[in-house]
Amino acid sequence: MRWTTADIRQSFLDFFKERGHTIVPSFPMVPKGDPTLLFVNAGMAPMKDYFLGIRTPPSRRVVDCQKCLRISGKHNDLEAVGRDSYHHTFFEMLGNWSFGDYYKAEAIAWHWELITKLWGVDPRLLYATVHKDDQESEQAWVKLGVLPKERIMRFGDKDNFWEMGETGPCGPNSEIDIDRGERSCDGSGHLPLACGVNVDGCERFVELGNLVFIQYNRDASGKLTPLPHKHVDTGTGLERVAAALQSLERSDGKVLGNYDIDLFQTIIKKIDTAAGELGDGSHYGRNPVADVSFRAIADHARTMAFLVAEGITPGNTDREYVLRRIIRRAARHGRYLGIHRPFLATVNDGVVAAMGGAYPELSRQAGKIAEVITAEETRFGETLDRGLELIEEEKARLKQAGRRSLSGAIAFKLYDTYGFPLDLTQDVLRNDGIEVDLAEFDRLMEGQRERARAARKDDSAAPEIQIAAGTSSRFTGYHRYDGGSEILAVGAQEGGSVAIVVAETPFYPEGGGQVGDRGVIETESGALAEISETRKADGSIVHIGRVLQGEVEDFRRGAHVNLRVDRIRRDAAMLNHSATHILHYALRDILSTQVHQAGSLVTPERLRFDFSHQGPVDADALSSIEEEINARIRENAEVVVEEMSYDAALKAGALAFFGDKYGDVVRVVRMGDFSVELCGGTHVRRTGDVGFFKLHGESGVAAGVRRIEAATGQGALDAVREQEKLLGQIGAKLGTNDAAALERLEKVLARERELEKRLLALEQKLASGGGYAGSVAETVREVNGIKVVSRRADGIDPRALRELADKLRQKYASAVVVLGSDLGEGKVALLVAVTADLTDRVKAGDIIKQIAPIVGGSGGGRPDLAQAGGRDAEKLDAALDKVISLVV
Ligand code: ATP
Ligand code: MG
Repeated sequence: MRWTTADIRQSFLDFFKERGHTIVPSFPMVPKGDPTLLFVNAGMAPMKDYFLGIRTPPSRRVVDCQKCLRISGKHNDLEAVGRDSYHHTFFEMLGNWSFGDYYKAEAIAWHWELITKLWGVDPRLLYATVHKDDQESEQAWVKLGVLPKERIMRFGDKDNFWEMGETGPCGPNSEIDIDRGERSCDGSGHLPLACGVNVDGCERFVELGNLVFIQYNRDASGKLTPLPHKHVDTGTGLERVAAALQSLERSDGKVLGNYDIDLFQTIIKKIDTAAGELGDGSHYGRNPVADVSFRAIADHARTMAFLVAEGITPGNTDREYVLRRIIRRAARHGRYLGIHRPFLATVNDGVVAAMGGAYPELSRQAGKIAEVITAEETRFGETLDRGLELIEEEKARLKQAGRRSLSGAIAFKLYDTYGFPLDLTQDVLRNDGIEVDLAEFDRLMEGQRERARAARKDDSAAPEIQIAAGTSSRFTGYHRYDGGSEILAVGAQEGGSVAIVVAETPFYPEGGGQVGDRGVIETESGALAEISETRKADGSIVHIGRVLQGEVEDFRRGAHVNLRVDRIRRDAAMLNHSATHILHYALRDILSTQVHQAGSLVTPERLRFDFSHQGPVDADALSSIEEEINARIRENAEVVVEEMSYDAALKAGALAFFGDKYGDVVRVVRMGDFSVELCGGTHVRRTGDVGFFKLHGESGVAAGVRRIEAATGQGALDAVREQEKLLGQIGAKLGTNDAAALERLEKVLARERELEKRLLALEQKLASGGGYAGSVAETVREVNGIKVVSRRADGIDPRALRELADKLRQKYASAVVVLGSDLGEGKVALLVAVTADLTDRVKAGDIIKQIAPIVGGSGGGRPDLAQAGGRDAEKLDAALDKVISLVV
């Protein structure tokens, strides 16, 4: 096979490297710090911040092969998987990137060269599409002069404007499609209604790659703003290219789909074996219905392997639930092949064999992946058959009644009792044209969620307490930390936990984001309860804790008690609560008055404030916010609290938040002339009491919602000390005080660069025979009148190996030169060079193809020079020796 999937991946990286691009590894599929996205769905997703100018790319030209998952959100191909031959959930996207560097003309010309010259695709099979308003791209194609006008096609936004999600960088694009020939229209199990470029369901014209010209950012309101720089973002599906190139290599004219490529065949063979040994003996390619299952399992096997390798385990929410669904769907397809036992771990062996070379995380974690998959498969296996039976029964019943809608209650039972994800049930019913009554299903799901929420509350809850209707407690804690009162209701539980309601209490009950108070309640007889939590329950305030001295019975209705709040803790929370108001003001002042509070948490240790805002808040704005807050603290403004009617409060300009509930009379907290909020929390008397405000961090929590975390008072001081300590430690490691640490670090880095340079020079010198390695002579043997010169040159990198090979070719004038190098860390390099006079008898490329597998690698090259990489250093000598038998 001339173009294996591995060769194609590498050739793409090399092609753009030769054109000034830096090769970067794939980012993880679980995006870091991007709450808007469950999984990376395109190569550009993790590069977003480079386009927006928030982070600086490693280079202005980058090339990569990115792991992608299209299983949720805007790009979800799950339903096509297995049914067509060119959509997967997991796939690899080859991409070259220009960050404000080259643009449309270069990107288009290079892709043309790559596809037609390097990969050798016949230009007559290719089509280009452009956005109807993008004359620049159209002109670039016309100028290139490689395609007739009718094969440069214009389309609208739907086909030629690319966006990763609802918001973010985007722009018009130009796609390259391949005509797979008329034969591709059948054999896939379904016929397209129509045929043509960008016709839905047409398998004849398939998109190979997409060149996106990023020039806008779309914000939450849908508005497009031009970016200061223009960028190139390309995405080419590796599997689709492999299918195209491997089809062209065939002599029988068969058109291959993605699942027929070398990589997938390795996986499908494992499914074939499993079907033979454990199932009904199906083979891939014999029966279109079974083939859907083969393809789905092969696809899902890759997805589950990569998800587990990235640390995800099956569960019931978000990413965890995606993994669970995919494993369960694969298990269900196993049943369709008659496999009633766990088998996905053996399929995973195929995934590791096919992809472990390019993705070492798979090989490293092969054991764990198999374990996680099998555990989930086993768990689901116990109810899978029974669930499928239930579906069959229901199907029969519906058929008889002439109906096409499965009741939501059955779908819910399948979910709840048999572990069938909704999409799995829908998938099973799809071929019969039956739909699930979603309204009913959703209603039952919501009911279950509510019960779960209630149960969770109960869990942490304290002893049950009967509070007579109409009971109410007065909160006295705005002005005091202690006070006496009378017990109105008590609940107790074994082990001494109690819940106490009194007539008047200084304990602040959790609310408005502020945590409830802690402290002690003491009876006149000297019994003492430590209170760990205070909550509201209708009009009452419930203190929850445990009895430390005396008996539970001492805390009875009517008893007189003394209540004391833990003052240090309350005061610390109070500082943070007041600081939250100042923060809210500063955000609106500095970012925009569109900022609204979306949630907050105020504890003694820190404060957390969520607010509506599109995109991260940049470092400059953050430091202005911190500065503004501290200025307001130093202003030492008076904090005035008033009670008034809700309407009067709104007239006074108070910020009221959607979702809060207010009675007729509300509490209004004013700080100086800058902040007015409705708030029931406890506050400082003057802003100066807050002392010092220190930001900890800013992050995203959901689409359009950001979070700021900070500390005040002692907490802020502690945080600063922590940083000081860290800096001190860095200084100590560098052998200097902190002030000089930066300068010292720069010197150390400069020295490191210098040493690297020297090392490289040394390696080259060694390789050219000038040094110590030169004394290690090469072995020369003669086979069939041909000199075979071989030599180990450990530690010499592939580039230097080429130089050494040139030297040896010169030295021996007519010879086959074979070099092997152990590069350490499980990497080896091989090189074969043949002098020109011998290339018609011996071909370097042929030899390397046969010896590379010995060291667990692959490679290729020209008749006179070929190189390969591998992993098994121990077999290096064996690989060198093998050459003798190949020279004939
Ligand atoms: P299609 O219209 O065929 O679904 P797309 O427009 O969704 O493709 P892009 O978002 O432009 O594709 O992604 C860039 C490239 O990634 C495509 O040209 C294709 O080669 C590849 N690709 C996209 N989706 C998939 C998938 N689900 N499985 C395999 N490859 C894919
Ligand atoms: Mg698509």
